[in-house]
Amino acid sequence: MQKRLVILGSTGSIGTSAIRVIEHAAGRFQVTGLAAGRRTASLAAQARTLQPAWVYASDADALAATDLPPKCRTLRDEAALCEAVSADDVDIVLCAIVGTSGLKPVLAALAAGKDIALASKEILVMAGALVTAAAAASGSRILPVDSEHCAVFQCLDGHDRASVSRVILTASGGPFRRLPAADFAKVTVAQALAHPTWNMGRKITIDSATMMNKGLEMIEAGWLFDMPSDQVDVVIHPQSIIHSMVEFKDGSVMAQMGYPDMALPIQYCLTYPERLPSPVRRLDLSEALSLDFEPPDLQRFPALALARRAMREGDAMGAVFNAANEIAVERFCREDITFDRIPVIVDHVMQRLSGQTRAESLDDILAADAEARRLAESA
Ligand code: NDP
Repeated sequence: MQKRLVILGSTGSIGTSAIRVIEHAAGRFQVTGLAAGRRTASLAAQARTLQPAWVYASDADALAATDLPPKCRTLRDEAALCEAVSADDVDIVLCAIVGTSGLKPVLAALAAGKDIALASKEILVMAGALVTAAAAASGSRILPVDSEHCAVFQCLDGHDRASVSRVILTASGGPFRRLPAADFAKVTVAQALAHPTWNMGRKITIDSATMMNKGLEMIEAGWLFDMPSDQVDVVIHPQSIIHSMVEFKDGSVMAQMGYPDMALPIQYCLTYPERLPSPVRRLDLSEALSLDFEPPDLQRFPALALARRAMREGDAMGAVFNAANEIAVERFCREDITFDRIPVIVDHVMQRLSGQTRAESLDDILAADAEARRLAESA
């Protein structure tokens, strides 16, 4: 059956991998809409190839100056985007907008009963209770694109939640796995942007270097799989071949493996529950291959302990953790703070807002997010 698809964040790393998947699975998908931020020339080129019914760009004026196909509508604002993702001509929405700008369209699509293939982990970290409640209310599925969560999702398939003792997220350890703590202050933006195994967008690459990405993923796993913080563990696995594992109550551990390529989890989510031939390179076990594991160093990478604290504290502490990190990353990228300050700022903002946030409504969460950003900017 052909699925009608919207891609939010189509010009990014995940968005362009998704287009590669769609082109490989010729005829299986009809692209209803594409949304992006500022790379409007790329967005228009995608529209000429994929012929969507509509396009949206946060920079609407730049989009208006591009050469779009004649029948392609331009959405002017976020309200129009929320309406378009909820319309009858959409079956599934891939959300791959960096940060939390996809939250409102995702909530609108869930309320309208659309399935969400979710790459934007920040959305669940910020508003996991609202997002999972919206999915439960309409019966929509949240299909995790993040490779670790997609691995857990595949390992859990067919298993009762009560039979699980913990999920084990693998982490490459990033470029500074062996860097002494004393050298963290000297890390440059270019060094932090050189990831050893994954080729990704800018923000997630910096998050991988601080291991904040793994912290975000711990919180994301808690929401996706309904796991408390003590059932979500992290192990360093530098080769990024095992994408994550599930340990069951009987002691059995299941893992999902493959070379690092986001095309596989993207395709799994878009075609779920079917498995189709994919463009990814097959795992070749006739080649020499070693799989190493080691525990994370919580002294040099405090992100994991901070994430666990945010999970335990609840309320809007996920939003606080995420927002403080976003600002700290921006400040590091504009060379306003050193690399080692990123977790220090997140810790500071979490301490300031501990016990003072609520997560009962979107307004509560947005208020916590705004306050965390304000504090992180001046910390
Ligand atoms: P990129 O920075 O490569 O792409 C981000 C996308 O978001 C771009 O298409 C960008 O548009 C778009 N965008 C930014 N702001 C807006 C906005 N206000 N409205 C609409 N679109 C907007 O990021 P990635 O693809 O690497 O990551 C996307 C998400 O997926 C992140 O949440 C990340 O954590 C997650 N993820 C990424 C993985 C990866 O391998 N890259 C792996 C797992 C998860 P434009 O470029 O036109 O400005």
